[in-house]
Amino acid sequence: MDGQIRRSAYEVALAQYDEAVALMNLPDDVVEFMRYPKRELTVNFPVRMDNGHIRMFTGFRVHHTTVRGPTKGGIRYHPEVTLEETRALAMWMTWKCALMNLPYGGAKGGVIVDPYTLSDEELCRLTRRYATEISILMSPEGDIPAPDVGTNPQVMAWIMDTYSMHRGYSVPAVVTGKPVQIGGSHGRYDATGLGVMFMAREAMKRLNMPIQGATVAVQGFGNVGSFAAHYMHLQGAKVIAVSDVRGGIYNPHGLDIPALERYVKETRTVVGFPGADAITNAELLELPCDVLIPAALEGQITRENAPRVKARIIAEGANGPTTPNADKILQDKGVFVIPDILCNAGGVTVSYFEWVQSLQSFFWSEQDVKRQLERLMVDSFNAVMHEAETRKLPLRMAAYTVAIGRVAEAIILRGVYP
Ligand code: GLU
Repeated sequence: MDGQIRRSAYEVALAQYDEAVALMNLPDDVVEFMRYPKRELTVNFPVRMDNGHIRMFTGFRVHHTTVRGPTKGGIRYHPEVTLEETRALAMWMTWKCALMNLPYGGAKGGVIVDPYTLSDEELCRLTRRYATEISILMSPEGDIPAPDVGTNPQVMAWIMDTYSMHRGYSVPAVVTGKPVQIGGSHGRYDATGLGVMFMAREAMKRLNMPIQGATVAVQGFGNVGSFAAHYMHLQGAKVIAVSDVRGGIYNPHGLDIPALERYVKETRTVVGFPGADAITNAELLELPCDVLIPAALEGQITRENAPRVKARIIAEGANGPTTPNADKILQDKGVFVIPDILCNAGGVTVSYFEWVQSLQSFFWSEQDVKRQLERLMVDSFNAVMHEAETRKLPLRMAAYTVAIGRVAEAIILRGVYP
């Protein structure tokens, strides 16, 4: 909680935006233009459940901007999804794509559902119906979804199949993060976590901290957190704590990550892993460690707990894990915060590679994907550092000013229609 009232993700996104544009010299009308999502769709739709009854669900798809290209962004299945949250996540995708110089605008989608309470058949029917409902906005040229919290390559395969059935032929480029067997890209599945490691490694180089033996705490053990832990471990770092929705585990001497990965495959949680103490998600954020990787949901590091954060580096695997009030506190404490739109951009970057491969039906090796990902991410890291150093800005504001500047440039060049 940030003070008495918890600010919505969208209020946070707007506060970050306002803070960034105040540092820039942009025409007021262009600033106003970028504050608004271009279009928002709400869909209420029925799904037949296994018991024969019909249940109504609500979903969203928001396009923030189309000035730099088709819109891009994941689809989230979570019980707390709202239109406002989806709007915030779409705006963050705009800045993320612009920062990485990908030819995309931002989008996000979501369905209010706890996917873990549905059978596979129910999840498939829900996905196919939601995909059909948002198909008026979705296309390889217009809007390309991908996985986010609560969705995975199987869900992407169903979306691709549903869209393709309606067209009468396969359209792999309509979605990214799909399985490799049906036109997905090598290296997409673990790309976000791998990118988080690249960014943490670059930050450590800047701070002259060896990665070998560095202590790491990871909040969230989903697609982002588990691969971030995996790659930090492979680099010789000591992952001392991880958590998921059910709780966390801690061992100051380091967790056996390969054993933990096997344990989670069997039990679907990190809780109860032998040889570690139980901790809460809140405690994990305050552990003494070199690198803290929040890789769960928004609004985790707030003005309440930021004073107690002990990490030297925060690598934002999640979207929006740190509130603006917390940012100020962390800045005063000298914490090196690698902002989300840079730190977790590995996913959408390899999504871009996947889209290009799907459009061309020409596929790259895993080695090529990883090499290109590393190059683009390190280049963006250096661009953000350069902006931060020359303009004396915190890293988040440096990343935002670079990204917003590119979107503004596109708006000015294209002009306003009619
Ligand atoms: N959901 C991911 C993100 O927040 C990936 C989006 C994509 O690949 O389009 O960046």
